[in-house]
Amino acid sequence: MTQTIPPFYDKNMTCDICTHSFTTKKMRSRFIRVDQVENDFYKTYKDPLLNPLLYEAAVCPECGYSFTDSFLPVKKEELKEAFQNQVSSSWKKRDFGGERDYETALTIMKLTLLSAKVTSQPYGLMGSICLRIAWLHRYQEKSSEEARFLDQAAVQYEKSFLEGDFRDIAMSELALLFILGECYRRTGNKEKARKYFSKVIEHKDKHLEPNLVERTREQWYETKAN
Ligand SMILES: [Zn+2]
Repeated sequence: MTQTIPPFYDKNMTCDICTHSFTTKKMRSRFIRVDQVENDFYKTYKDPLLNPLLYEAAVCPECGYSFTDSFLPVKKEELKEAFQNQVSSSWKKRDFGGERDYETALTIMKLTLLSAKVTSQPYGLMGSICLRIAWLHRYQEKSSEEARFLDQAAVQYEKSFLEGDFRDIAMSELALLFILGECYRRTGNKEKARKYFSKVIEHKDKHLEPNLVERTREQWYETKAN
């Protein structure tokens, strides 16, 4: 007798802010069927509801703290207190541990951005959350909202480049510069797109990520041609 394996499983989590334990759904990797990948790493899936992006963030049902695997641990008491005062105090207990649709995932990702801001996570991490919010709008074909969050992603990634905090979230400088150029290309800021694509092409570490550099060249030409 064979048992059908469901696409999701419950993962145990512990909240950094209030230490509450809860479960959140994650996708089993064998169910991930990528259809297409775009240049900013946005992916479409054969079954849109089997999209791991919908399950990237966990939400503590007790205090509202919403986080991904890339979040740095919150150690400072003052940051925990800031979150409790600014977010938890008005949080209505809600469990996001079930299956999710795109609207729910968007609500959660916006809460994740707020959680990252209040707990002073690296700018590079905030950029990647803004990029994910932009993707969730792209799935829903809301282009003006998508552009608004691509803009915000670029602002955060730019701060990350200046501060160097992308290293804290294991992101390479080349990957950061590429995605920065790509956010600007997509929002129509060709000048800044070319500036950051050039930094990739001329980077001292370019031999380490030849595929990324090649892709950057293609995008650089595209911003020149159009
Ligand atoms: Zn909590």
